[in-house]
Amino acid sequence: TLRLNAMTGWIMWALTTFFRQLGVVSEGMETISQPIDLQDAPDAQPLILDQGRIEIMELSHHYGRGQGGLDRISLSIQPGEKIGLVGRSGAGKSTLVKLLLRFYEAEGGSIQIDGQDIRQVTQDSLRRNIGMVQQDSSLLHRSVRDNILYGRPEASEAEMLAAAKQAEADGFIADLQDPKGRGGFDAHVGERGVKLSGGQRQRVTLARVILKDAPILVLDEATSALDSEVEAAIQNTLYGMMEGKTVIAIAHRLSTIAQMDRILVLDDGKIVEEGTHSELLHKEGLYAQFWSRQSGGFLNLEAAE
Ligand code: ADP
Ligand code: MG
Repeated sequence: TLRLNAMTGWIMWALTTFFRQLGVVSEGMETISQPIDLQDAPDAQPLILDQGRIEIMELSHHYGRGQGGLDRISLSIQPGEKIGLVGRSGAGKSTLVKLLLRFYEAEGGSIQIDGQDIRQVTQDSLRRNIGMVQQDSSLLHRSVRDNILYGRPEASEAEMLAAAKQAEADGFIADLQDPKGRGGFDAHVGERGVKLSGGQRQRVTLARVILKDAPILVLDEATSALDSEVEAAIQNTLYGMMEGKTVIAIAHRLSTIAQMDRILVLDDGKIVEEGTHSELLHKEGLYAQFWSRQSGGFLNLEAAE
């Protein structure tokens, strides 16, 4: 049985390594939720990012169903521009940012970053240049430290600690202890380690993205799993992170994106409204409805100026 165990262990290791190579970051072998990476084009070049301009042209993706998803979205994002994306659940917000990271191959249209079609660049260089915090962050079955360093493996311990602190994660990390007695940043997370809550996972991911410091930042309901107190504490960190970067932020709470340069309202896979917060309130369309609902039915146009 010893030999059998060793064998099983080796197979598990090989499989895990294989999936990691593919870029699949899983919370357990049985719950791989990220789509498997697409292959690099044979002549793929590393993405050269000098400005951070994103050009989305006639982008469509229906998950093979012919409907739903995204429907011919066109959008120019200027270098350093901060875009807020809002819309009902199922409107296509996450699909848009997942296509930007090329988690899926878009069924129609294209995306260029600084003039380079994302299908023509290496996946690795694409992901290195984009920092993303997702709604449902999953972590590697490794130590908390490894999970944060995954953003930038060559970072120093001090930089790693600073990132954790900025993400309001240092407090709970200090109290962690896994079943093998490893504590703090050495504690392993996942099945055989400590189980982290959704909010804790989100903060570890945030620390990873802070450390990564990529020129393009994608926040997909990045604080959705946090309680409002922690969320408020992190909000300033998020604004700080956005400085000098091209940003796409999907908000579950509208107040967090009200001051973005431009807000896009997605509905049923299309951009139906676009403007600043106060422009959109004046339109009295979908955004104004969302805003009024979130502020308890109280819509004060003057206060929004
Ligand atoms: P949002 O982030 O705005 O809530 P999504 O982009 O996640 O919306 O989803 C847009 C539409 O695409 C929804 O109808 C959703 O059911 C569908 N969808 C999302 N992911 C998948 C998937 N992996 N397979 C099939 N359909 C999907
Ligand atoms: Mg979503």
